[in-house]
Amino acid sequence: MNHFEVRRGELWCEDTPLAAIAEAVGTPAYVYSTATLERHYTVFRDAFAPREVLVAYAVKANSNLSVLKTLAALGAGADTVSEGEVRRALAAGVPPSRIVFSGVGKTDDELAFALDVGVAEINIESEPEMDRLAAVAESKDMRAPIAIRVNPDVGAGGHAKIATGKTEDKFGVSLSEAERLYAKASNSASLKPLGVACHIGSQITDLAPLEAAFTKMRALVERLRLAGHSVRRLDLGGGLGVPYFNMPDPPPPAALAEVVDRVMAGLDIELAFEPGRLIVANAGVLLSRVIHVHRRPEGRAFLVLDAAMNDLIRPAMYDAYHDIRPVKAPAPGAALELYDVVGPICETGDTFTRDRSLPPLAAGDLVAFMSAGAYGSAMSSEYNTRPLVPEVLVRGDQFAVVRPRPTYDEMLAREPMAPWL
Ligand SMILES: *Cc1c(COP(=O)(O)O)cnc(C)c1O
Repeated sequence: MNHFEVRRGELWCEDTPLAAIAEAVGTPAYVYSTATLERHYTVFRDAFAPREVLVAYAVKANSNLSVLKTLAALGAGADTVSEGEVRRALAAGVPPSRIVFSGVGKTDDELAFALDVGVAEINIESEPEMDRLAAVAESKDMRAPIAIRVNPDVGAGGHAKIATGKTEDKFGVSLSEAERLYAKASNSASLKPLGVACHIGSQITDLAPLEAAFTKMRALVERLRLAGHSVRRLDLGGGLGVPYFNMPDPPPPAALAEVVDRVMAGLDIELAFEPGRLIVANAGVLLSRVIHVHRRPEGRAFLVLDAAMNDLIRPAMYDAYHDIRPVKAPAPGAALELYDVVGPICETGDTFTRDRSLPPLAAGDLVAFMSAGAYGSAMSSEYNTRPLVPEVLVRGDQFAVVRPRPTYDEMLAREPMAPWL
């Protein structure tokens, strides 16, 4: 459920018409709904009640500070994958005790930073990383709190680029390696193993692979405990998919919680989750304006928008589907037309979709890419020297620009000329 709906013939975000935002901020622009963010977070957290779980929101899905602060205010933790993301989480008020630091290639400097600020858990993805962390912690006379990221060898995820749970993927260590590394960490004076973690992929729409992975993780916890280790925490990752409108609804958090309850029955352990997409995807849209419609005499109609692949790369990168809605609702009974929806960038990859049925659109009309709150703005760039797409947060009838569009002068001023030129 989200708070983007048609009222009085046009699309609104909560109590704010999207057209008013486009007027004030210009296009393209991302627009996020506070009420939707809050709802998705609380539905996820409450699905596990009465169990208290750590919900560490995966910052990489949408790292805007106002989005983070909205979630932090509800008690969300943060799953981070770089020093920059740890800094964002801290700046948004996430306490270090709820920050998890993940990622396959954390540098010594990043690990030192994470130790200095006191993050709750550093997820170790390989033995060389564990050895480096031990050395960094030793040099600081500290004990690093770690979880071993396990690759349970279960395939899942909506696209090859976002499946992470198979042995051939670069993430984590095998179940047997995890046992060896856990023992090694337990014997280290500079490491403090808290538990084990997994995350098998993203945009998962079927609970079976999650259940298979969770079952393997539970067995691992039991083997580790039998071997005499303390295992306090089990981090089950993120990955639950969201509806992108062209598909049946993926299982809701309550169905995930039911699987977790069943698989973990009788196991005394703190659970943590790292949802990203599920919290933010349907809380955001990308607003864009039609530049013109180019009709080829042979028949194809190209809807040329002012948004491009640099603003929303998911269609080009993951063949992702986004529902596209006209902001002004079409007249009832208006005939649909087939459009190729494209941006202005000079490559064919800058095609959002082909042969999409849409109501008739003309230059100046506004459209909204739905479900664009996750991996949208966070993956945007300034390719083609297009100013970084701005972000707007709505709350009821108020809205605020929470990342302004840079001016061309600001963009050019970032690049000092080489002194010999
Ligand atoms: C990307 C990622 C997540 C979030 O995945 P979603 O599909 O957005 O829920 C969680 N944990 C880790 C380790 C990740 O890399």
